[in-house]
Amino acid sequence: MKVVDDYFGCDVFGRQAMQKYLPHSVFKIMCDVMDNGKELPNEIADVVANAMKDWAVEKGATHFTHWFQPMTGITAEKHDAFINPTGPTSVISEFRGKELIKGEPDASSFPSGGLRATFEARGYTAWDPTSFAFVKEKTLYIPTLFLSYDGSSLDKKTPLLRSIQALNKAAVRLLHVMGFSDINKINTTVGPEQEYFLVDEEMYRQRLDLIITGRTLFGSAPVKGQELDDHYFGNIDERVKAYMEEVDEELWRLGVYAKTEHKEVAPCQFELAPVFSAGNVAGDQNQLMMEVLQRVAHHHGLVCLLHEKPFDGVNGSGKHNNWSIVADTGENLLEPGDDPKDNIRSLTILAAIVKGVDEYQDLLRISVATAGNDHRLGANEAPPAIISIYLGEELNAIIRSLISGKDEHNTVNTDLQLGITALPKISRDTTDRNRTSPFAFTGNKFEFRMLGSSLNISCPNTILNTIVAEEMTQFAAELECVSQEKVQEANIELIKRTFKEHQRILYSGNGYSEEWRQEALKRGLSELKTTADALPHYTEPRYLEMFGRHKVYTANELHARQNILLMGYYQVIHIEAQTMAYMLRKQIIPAVLDYEAKLASIIQTKKEAGIKFTMENKYLTEINDALELIEQHLEELEELIQKSFTDSKEAADFAAQKLLPLMDAIRKLSDVIEARIPRDVWPMPDYNDLLFRA
Ligand code: ADP
Ligand code: MG
Repeated sequence: MKVVDDYFGCDVFGRQAMQKYLPHSVFKIMCDVMDNGKELPNEIADVVANAMKDWAVEKGATHFTHWFQPMTGITAEKHDAFINPTGPTSVISEFRGKELIKGEPDASSFPSGGLRATFEARGYTAWDPTSFAFVKEKTLYIPTLFLSYDGSSLDKKTPLLRSIQALNKAAVRLLHVMGFSDINKINTTVGPEQEYFLVDEEMYRQRLDLIITGRTLFGSAPVKGQELDDHYFGNIDERVKAYMEEVDEELWRLGVYAKTEHKEVAPCQFELAPVFSAGNVAGDQNQLMMEVLQRVAHHHGLVCLLHEKPFDGVNGSGKHNNWSIVADTGENLLEPGDDPKDNIRSLTILAAIVKGVDEYQDLLRISVATAGNDHRLGANEAPPAIISIYLGEELNAIIRSLISGKDEHNTVNTDLQLGITALPKISRDTTDRNRTSPFAFTGNKFEFRMLGSSLNISCPNTILNTIVAEEMTQFAAELECVSQEKVQEANIELIKRTFKEHQRILYSGNGYSEEWRQEALKRGLSELKTTADALPHYTEPRYLEMFGRHKVYTANELHARQNILLMGYYQVIHIEAQTMAYMLRKQIIPAVLDYEAKLASIIQTKKEAGIKFTMENKYLTEINDALELIEQHLEELEELIQKSFTDSKEAADFAAQKLLPLMDAIRKLSDVIEARIPRDVWPMPDYNDLLFRA
């Protein structure tokens, strides 16, 4: 019997392996590189590379790869063997420092948004020693950044690392002026809860839409959906259990703290949540988790769908991003302390977050904007496309009293007390939860709930880190202007003022309701419904300036991202439109015509025999009316598909305003026909086959 304690992290070149394989002096330097961001001295790179190779070869590795996250959102890798010829018929395994530190993949086919012309293919990858190398399928994986030759980021990881640095700088500056001189470094902690669907592989193979687009473009409602609420937390059946066991084991070997798994609300929907880890590592590990979930499914005759909305009519999948800040003293800075001084600290950080989220709502919305996620947000199953913050009853009461100067928190059943600092104490356990809030405080962390299930979590975290860094910098600058004995007083005033000015972003009610939408719009909160609406705001001057100030994105990098994301959005929808047209022409229309012929001949036979055929006549008319309309729409769709674009915003608007509504109309008609046609005539597995066979 294998015990997880013995093999957890065995395929990771973590501290234990480093200690074993590196000379002690080099190990200490590596720790300094990992913990304090020190640069790796060139002369020890060879030693580290060689140790890594020895360790990996013992694990059966024959190849190495730089593992990076281009702006496609998924990971990329190119494998090189360790072999180096030593004579006409001999080789030795070799891995040099410079191969560890830098790689030069042919980068011409990755999206660059104009940052690099295609004829100038060279981009390079650079080792990220703050994450961990690992061995998977006989290959040593080295997490890397991906940059163009002028140092512009072509990936998702570089801005994330920059934003963690910016947050560190701002937080330490603020904490020092507040008197917390024992804190010299902070990091973010992130725990992403991953949702996914499982479908039977044989059924999946017969659905071109699932294969090509990850979602069903057709499908009338199943006989049972999620109305009984019987899937959520339900008993996990054997095939899925065996799958989860294998997923866990693989992830544990890779040092991922896979922890909680359960059935989700929709039929065949599940969730896997890890224990949180450092922001950067959490990003890499979530990519690994998604990859392992998908790969292992095939061993069990299943397919794992990470799309945000594979099925109409039941819930889609998201990814809750739990986020907090931890200091080098080990304290969680969002954790309310017993000491009034710590209490001021957590309230100051809360105030910075509230201000940041209010002022940069659009950026947070943009950070989760994708074609897939557009199907969820605002659809009564996921947060609306409007950002608001839920703080919980107790904190709300505290904030109300801070703002009004009256002791309103007495109404709340906790042991609030006005301390010497005139700030009430916050209890640790704010268990009241509001599942409908897009951005909720859950006791000692924030949970950003708008992410789609397939999203690379780097972008939302980059934005979150940067906006909080911005507010903390402003707070620090303000407090630095007052004399030391006045800092606390000024700090409390700052907290009060901030909450007062940004109250509009706080909301505790039902975030899914239409009343909230109306109220939010009255409050002046922004609602960017689609990706095409949201992304054009990315490059507003005030955002360019803010990202520039914190050295997270240059103006060029941000424009490039905007282009890539807008074009990507159009392309996803364009491919869906093409898939839809193909399935109609090749599968659905021929099958419906056959069935119509059959019905017509039944009617004819009945007519000749002089018996009743009114119902058959009715079915034939209904089916034929819908088919006629589909054929007309299809011609229009095929015309629209032909259009080409050079301007990415135009393309995105076209997809949102022309392609999607037409596809929606076609789908509705097709679903009407599907509901009236025998199962064996319908040319693909239906929702009953897909949702209840996993
Ligand atoms: P749920 O939201 O489903 O009720 P929990 O609140 O227990 O579940 O935790 C959800 C996720 O939050 C887990 O992945 C957990 O590791 C993560 N988490 C807990 N504390 C922190 C923290 N301080 N920073 C970041 N993530 C955290
Ligand atoms: Mg959660």
